[in-house]
Amino acid sequence: MYENILIPTDGSKTANVAVEHAVDLAAKYGATVHALYVVDPDWLAYSLGSEQLDRIRQGNFGEMGDVEADAAEATGVVADAARDHDVEVIEEVRGGTPHEIITSYADNEDIDLIVIGSHGRSGVRRALLGSVTERVLRSSHLPTLVVDEHEEP
Ligand code: ATP
Ligand code: MN
Repeated sequence: MYENILIPTDGSKTANVAVEHAVDLAAKYGATVHALYVVDPDWLAYSLGSEQLDRIRQGNFGEMGDVEADAAEATGVVADAARDHDVEVIEEVRGGTPHEIITSYADNEDIDLIVIGSHGRSGVRRALLGSVTERVLRSSHLPTLVVDEHEEP
């Protein structure tokens, strides 16, 4: 049923709770987990120049140490959990608008389940769902498991 499970992560606590669900399912199904961190140029619009923002959109993060470190930390949580469960993991970092990248990655990489957090690093509870999750649910046709932040791993 599930061979490729996508876990989009922004490194937030809620995403890390979702990681536990994704990896546990992957272990039971013998699936590969894909950890996808999207660098959103809008997060960095105030701190970087337009040339650097263009490079991010092209997926070129060289010499942007903070960006690379945040990405490696977020996907590293997935990689560590996968290793503990003997699950194969692919770590991927891309630049662009998160829900667009997540949806197109899922289509292009034969993903059959998305596991995503209800909220992310902005942590604002004003809405039932964070905007990335809401947009992924609207734009992807794939089964998606939404993990709430109140659940402890
Ligand atoms: P908002 O961004 O709308 O202010 P939020 O940060 O609380 O609210 P979302 O951004 O929708 O909520 O995050 C929900 C989930 O979406 C996260 O737990 C994570 O799984 C995924 N996600 C969010 N941003 C990214 C990203 N840049 N790359 C990969 N996954 C992401
Ligand atoms: Mn967010």
